[in-house]
Amino acid sequence: MAEKAPWAPEFAYRGGALCVEDIPLAAIADEVGTPCYVYSSAQLERRFREFAGAFEDVPTRVCFSVKANPNLAVVATLGSLGAGADVVSEGEFRRALAAGIAGNRVIFSGVGKKASELEFALANDVYQINVESIPELEAVSAIAQRLGKDAPIALRVNPDVDAKTHAKITTGKKENKFGIDLAHARAVYRQAAKLPNIKPVGIAVHIGSQLTSLRPFETAFRRVAELYRTLRADGIAVDRLDLGGGLGIRYRDETPPAIADYAAMVKRITGNLGATLSFEPGRAIVGNAGVLVSRIVYVKKAVTHRFVIIDAAMNDLIRPALYDAYHEILPLKGPATKRGLKEAEIVGPVCETGDTFAKKRMLPTVAAGDMVALMSAGAYGASMSSGYNTRLPVPEVLVRGTNFAVIRPRPSYDAVLAADRLPPWLTVK
Ligand SMILES: *Cc1c(COP(=O)(O)O)cnc(C)c1O
Repeated sequence: MAEKAPWAPEFAYRGGALCVEDIPLAAIADEVGTPCYVYSSAQLERRFREFAGAFEDVPTRVCFSVKANPNLAVVATLGSLGAGADVVSEGEFRRALAAGIAGNRVIFSGVGKKASELEFALANDVYQINVESIPELEAVSAIAQRLGKDAPIALRVNPDVDAKTHAKITTGKKENKFGIDLAHARAVYRQAAKLPNIKPVGIAVHIGSQLTSLRPFETAFRRVAELYRTLRADGIAVDRLDLGGGLGIRYRDETPPAIADYAAMVKRITGNLGATLSFEPGRAIVGNAGVLVSRIVYVKKAVTHRFVIIDAAMNDLIRPALYDAYHEILPLKGPATKRGLKEAEIVGPVCETGDTFAKKRMLPTVAAGDMVALMSAGAYGASMSSGYNTRLPVPEVLVRGTNFAVIRPRPSYDAVLAADRLPPWLTVK
């Protein structure tokens, strides 16, 4: 385990029980059932305040990246602290609105926004549309004309910087599908400025997720700052810089930059531009604020391995299968002592070999019926879950001090089955 637990102090052992804020996780799991996601309001608020506070002295909007954790209660918790939202679909836009975040605090990102989605954004007075291609720019212009509105746009530029993160979450290399090549950006801005009802207000960049070094950010931001100066000299009145998200967190032993150091670097590069900044952090706010609680179904001693089979699966938390991601696994009764640790493969029940949470993991002696927490599961956990194997959608719980509330109940099997329809030519007895 990492020397200093990155999820602390909101998740810690007290009296032999792993607690979230002032409640033992086991008490929640006993009531809600397993598997379930549990989030700490205190940590959400602490991380958001730390991020926003680091930019207090410059005009800044912190727009929470909704796709990291779209639960309305999570988005509303952050919205009530002044967060805006970064959304990548009409569905997420609607979530932001439903969570009390007005359209003029929403940034609309994404490489494939449809006409209906762009129309929804403009009708709701979106703060900024981050445009990723010339065809998209033309679509925005046509829709804005039809609505009789000016569309505030930034071009998302691709600075060709290697974020040095997992290949599946690198977005700022020129071979990635994202953004407009930096070398073409100046010409595209000129084109944009001439299009009817298009108002270029800023430049946007987002080079990837789970970055653990400042260097790629710094390289990208320098390139964007230079473009900003060039555009202003060209007479294009941009006055915003959207520097995206991507700041990493510690899952195991990574040493991601502190928010304060990230902020100092940003201010060093952008300080004299006079731009209004925006950020789109997701993981850095919610990643360590959530856990997935699961119960051990069986401990199976096979020929070569000891398998600990838990009732959570890859459909509930796909990061290990998709990104080879590491999640710390802690027993709810503990803490574990060095003595009595045994190597185990921690797996779910889904019919895929990829349904493996951890290989060769040292776990204390555990038995069927015991519960564990998969730590650092607040970002890209529930949001990427699916109904594969007709497992019931995993419920979510939000804790605040000594209180907790189910913020997404587990539906019944009847409700899940009722979502399908038989065609008129089929009847079942
Ligand atoms: C996913 C995404 C983010 C959030 O990334 P994190 O690594 O969670 O901070 C921000 N901006 C855009 C455009 C994204 O696609």
